[in-house]
Amino acid sequence: MMDNYGTPSLALERGEGAYVWDTDGNRYLDLLTGIAVNALGHAHPAIVEAVTRQISTIGHTSNLYVNEPALALAERLLDLSGVDGDGRVFFCNSGAEANEAALKMSRRTGRTKIVATDGAFHGRTMGALSLTGQPGKKTPFEPLVPGVVHIPFGDVDALEAAIDDDTAAFFVEPIQGEQGVVVPPAGYLQAARAITQQHGALLVLDEVQTGIGRLGTWFAFQQAGIVPDVMTLAKGIGGGLPLGATIGFGDAAHLFEPGHHGTTFGGNPVCCAAALAVLDTIAAEGLLEHASAVGKEIATGVEALGHPQISGVRGAGLLLGITLREAVSAKAAAAAQQAGYLINPIQPDVIRLAPPLVLDEADAHRFVADLPSFFAKIDATEES
Ligand code: PMP
Repeated sequence: MMDNYGTPSLALERGEGAYVWDTDGNRYLDLLTGIAVNALGHAHPAIVEAVTRQISTIGHTSNLYVNEPALALAERLLDLSGVDGDGRVFFCNSGAEANEAALKMSRRTGRTKIVATDGAFHGRTMGALSLTGQPGKKTPFEPLVPGVVHIPFGDVDALEAAIDDDTAAFFVEPIQGEQGVVVPPAGYLQAARAITQQHGALLVLDEVQTGIGRLGTWFAFQQAGIVPDVMTLAKGIGGGLPLGATIGFGDAAHLFEPGHHGTTFGGNPVCCAAALAVLDTIAAEGLLEHASAVGKEIATGVEALGHPQISGVRGAGLLLGITLREAVSAKAAAAAQQAGYLINPIQPDVIRLAPPLVLDEADAHRFVADLPSFFAKIDATEES
């Protein structure tokens, strides 16, 4: 493989629930789950059954035809959104692709300017990268798509100043996962909704990381009590299989016309069958409430440690950022790995947790209790 990801720290061989095993047979509690992916944990029987049934019935159909799992999934997503009126779904294979589709939909408004936020992560393809607000990831690939303006995340005044009547869309994440689980001030999404509406610009919510139950509701926008024009999804939706979705609500449902956009595997029945199993199981097992409750227990538990290295916990549901007073997250994650936990040093001073929604309370408590030992190990190494 090309050296895109640096030196891997583990080779994983199998998983079950919230646990994974490496090729040497060591077990880890997976508090990252493929970066906010496996809502149901690893090897969930509902996904195994749905995928097996579907691949042995019909595995791929091409977009010249339609298939039942894709139709059912589109309908289910619209239903779970709770949004009245028109809604239409475009299926693709990843978060970047879901945002590419949203970007092309934005161009269909006849306007060219796009507003996005500093620190945002929307993917690595050229369009999605142009929306991304992390300069280090972008500069090696310039020039990018023109017309994208970046403003500080969470800043309503900056949005008001940047947006005008030539603005096609404002792209924003409800919580910036890759920037270190950065939560905007209360009222931000509501203000973004009002400002975009005022200028006839689309509000595009990138829910690739926050959607499908991660924050304890099906979608983050439901917590804000707003409706976006466009929502993008990926990661958790496919239960470990590659699937992305771009959903247009209201007039935005009709921005694409036949021939405008497409992809070979989009709406692949196997991925859609897996996604239906994810949604069914989240509902049947009460995993939204569970994610909310366990997330709160982790947050209050970590805060209650009163550990001198920990400055706070932010996020919602099971997307949490533990903020540190020093840039030691990579060392803490290495110590955690040795102790049998996979955690993510997303920023030098932020540890991200995005465990499966099925994470049980006992495992959550065990992690919180062991957290100080990871920092102790760093201190011990530095002293010796
Ligand atoms: N948007 C957000 C908010 C993300 O977190 C990510 C992935 N980290 C992406 C888009 C890109 O998704 P993918 O890697 O599936 O292209």
